[in-house]
Amino acid sequence: MRKIAVLDQNTIDKIAAGEVVERPASVVKELVENAIDAGATAITVEIKEGGIAFIRVTDNGGGIEKEQVPLAFLRHATSKIERVEDLLQISSLGFRGEALSSISAVSQMEVITKTGDALTGVRYVIEGGREKLFEEVGAPNGTTMLVRNLFFNTPARAKFLKTAMTEAGYVSGYMEQLALSHQDISFKYMVNGQTKLHTSGNSNLKDVIYGIYGRDITRELLPVSFERLGISIEGFIGKPVIARGNRNFENYYINGRYVKSKILMKAIEEAYKPYMMQHKYPFVCLHYEIQGEEIDVNVHPTKMEVRFQNQGAVYNATYDMITEALSKREMIPEVKLEK
Ligand code: ADP
Ligand code: MG
Repeated sequence: MRKIAVLDQNTIDKIAAGEVVERPASVVKELVENAIDAGATAITVEIKEGGIAFIRVTDNGGGIEKEQVPLAFLRHATSKIERVEDLLQISSLGFRGEALSSISAVSQMEVITKTGDALTGVRYVIEGGREKLFEEVGAPNGTTMLVRNLFFNTPARAKFLKTAMTEAGYVSGYMEQLALSHQDISFKYMVNGQTKLHTSGNSNLKDVIYGIYGRDITRELLPVSFERLGISIEGFIGKPVIARGNRNFENYYINGRYVKSKILMKAIEEAYKPYMMQHKYPFVCLHYEIQGEEIDVNVHPTKMEVRFQNQGAVYNATYDMITEALSKREMIPEVKLEK
C-alpha cells in the first residue's frame, strides 16, 4: 500500500471535483468504498435515525498506519493515486482524497484503526474538522469509522435532509446494490440495532439475490454468461412474468461498479420487447467485465452515468445475450384470471 499524500495542484485541477457528502447514504457509500479499497472481506454498516445521528462502518481491511491517520483527513490526501496518469489504470473505487475531509468537516467523527503489523491501534476524534483526540488503543486489525450528527454545524444543509425513514431507505437501497455488486464480501447491515441484510461473501450471486428479493423472484431467473470482443457478462435475467412497472429491478455493474447507462437500458428494453407489455421493465442483474481503459472513472463522483468507448459493441453484446437466453426457453405468458 502506498503512503497517504496530498495531491499536487495539477492533479487536483484535472480530477473532476465534487461535493460527495449530501446525505447519510453518500457518507455510507464513501466509507464502504474505502473499506473495499482497503481489501476488507467483511464489512458491517450500522445506522441509527436514518444515519443522521449515527453511522458506523467496521472493516477487516488493511488499516491505516498510526502516523498517517491525521493525514487521511486532509483535503486531497490519498494513498490511491500520485498523479493524473495513475487514473488510466486505477483499480480502486476512490482516488480524490476528499471524502474523509468533507465528512469530518460536517460531523463528529471517530476512527479506530490498526494495521496488521502494528502492536496497538489508534483512536482519533475529529469534530467539525477540528482534531480532538489522538490516542493509542487496543484494537483488532482493520478500521472502524463512526460518524455522529451529520451536518450538526451546517443547519442549512441539515434542512435538506428528509425524514429518518426516507434517509434509511436510501442507505438500504445502496446496501442492496453493494451486496449485489460484491458477492465476495460479507456485508452485515443493521438499522436501529436490527439486522436487515447479512450476506455470506461466498461469491454466489444467486444467494445474494435470494437474500434481497426472496424466493418468488429468484425462482423465475435465467442464468446468463456471455463473452465477445473483450466484453464478458455474467449474471441473471428475469423471466417476463416478474416484470415490474419501474426500472428499480435493473441492476448492472461495470467492473464492479454500480452504474446507470442509457445504452444498456435501451439494449435490455429492445431485447425484452417481444415478450413484454409496454411500460413493464424486467429484472436483470448483470456483471460486465470490460478492459479498464474502456470505462471513464473520472466523471463527477455523484453521477453514475457511465460512458463507453465502444457503445455499439456493449449494446450488441447485451441485446444478443438476452435475446438468446429468452428464446431458448418457451415463453408462454402467464395467464392471470381476474378475480
Ligand atoms: P480516497 O478514498 O479518494 O483516497 P478518502 O478521503 O476517502 O480519499 O480517504 C483518504 C485515505 O485514507 C485513503 O486514500 C486511504 O489511504 C485511507 N483510508 C480511508 N479509509 C480507510 C479504511 N477503511 N481502511 C484503510 N485506509 C483507509
Ligand atoms: Mg474514499
